[in-house]
Amino acid sequence: MNEAILTLNAGSSSLKLSVHAATGERLLVSGLVDSIGGDGTLRLKDGDGAELAAQTSVADFRDHQAALATVLGVLREVLPGLDVAAVGHRVVHGGPDFKAHAVLDTAILERLAAFSSLAPLHQPHNLAGIRAALAAFPAAAQVACFDTAFHRTHPFVNDVFALPRAYYDKGVRRYGFHGLSYEYIASELARRAPLLAEGRVVVAHLGNGASMCAMQDGRSVASTMGFSALDGLPMGTRCGQLDPGVVLHLMVEEGMDAKAISDLLYKRSGLLGLSGLSNDMRTLEAAGTPEADEAIDYFVFRIQRELGAMAAALGGIDSLVFCGGIGENSRLVRARVCERMAWMGIELDPARNAANAEVISSDLARTTVLVIPTNEELVIARATRRLALGSTRSAA
Ligand code: ADP
Repeated sequence: MNEAILTLNAGSSSLKLSVHAATGERLLVSGLVDSIGGDGTLRLKDGDGAELAAQTSVADFRDHQAALATVLGVLREVLPGLDVAAVGHRVVHGGPDFKAHAVLDTAILERLAAFSSLAPLHQPHNLAGIRAALAAFPAAAQVACFDTAFHRTHPFVNDVFALPRAYYDKGVRRYGFHGLSYEYIASELARRAPLLAEGRVVVAHLGNGASMCAMQDGRSVASTMGFSALDGLPMGTRCGQLDPGVVLHLMVEEGMDAKAISDLLYKRSGLLGLSGLSNDMRTLEAAGTPEADEAIDYFVFRIQRELGAMAAALGGIDSLVFCGGIGENSRLVRARVCERMAWMGIELDPARNAANAEVISSDLARTTVLVIPTNEELVIARATRRLALGSTRSAA
């Protein structure tokens, strides 16, 4: 028997998954299904990152339920005797109520469905993944892990917009996202550098989606993302912070409706919109066109601005952590972000930065700068083990 924890992260047309051993933290398999609803593909890797040949001859990726059934068939081939003891789900929105991850039951599922109006582009897909897993594993406990939960510790001033109070009560708040990534970084920092973890930490999660989080003693104090995953930093295709007057202008002067504006702000803006070329940082770094360079300039400048804002929320800064695809890999972006930040005690060691070292600041710098690869799946697996299987199984 191969008792395991399955984690699922269902997007609009994708399904990320991982299988961890039910005891310890050993990753057995990770995988990604792309293009659900189209001609989907499944890629699987073993725990060491080596590509596994996926048997997709009977593949069916028509919808999330079919995709999950296909994935399970393949998983049973590559992990004979697989026994899924519990399933953990990434759920983008836990609304104002969920301060912690939760074991799913019918009542909680209904509450999560009610939050779909707060995250219409993500929440329905997360729920589709949950329903598919409930059908596939009726006996296994299922756990919801919220991207918003980590930020529920924000003080009122970082949780509110200056709108009439009734909107706050109706849930129009600054939720913040990428909480699973920040939870992982907080735990890793506590393990690797406990003194730093107790201090004032700014984490820059820079991937296709990007945000920053200010933490004190491992708890979120402020985040650049607000009500939706559009706010704050510019991203691959999302605009980041935008004057709401622009939205009014688009409606009134350009006759755009909510769907057209949503498409513009979520899918055609950010690095892609500014460069006119790509949402992918690697492509922009290699391109060398004025527009690609300006897109990177804007990305870097906004990170620097928000770094100032996050440090202000903390009353100072002791360490800065980079994570996410860009934060973990782009020497250029890290160097550019840190370039004009000496006033904040930030000073990179170019050789360490070039080597993607764990600590990339110079020994004399007042603020320690680190690169820590994030691991959202492990956070889901840990929470699922703790909540669904009890802490006794956490010992390796
Ligand atoms: P997601 O938010 O979709 O999980 P990732 O965290 O995987 O995204 O980050 C994707 C981004 O990371 C892309 O813009 C990609 O170009 C960038 N990236 C990955 N590797 C490198 C690299 N070596 N240099 C620069 N950018 C990189």
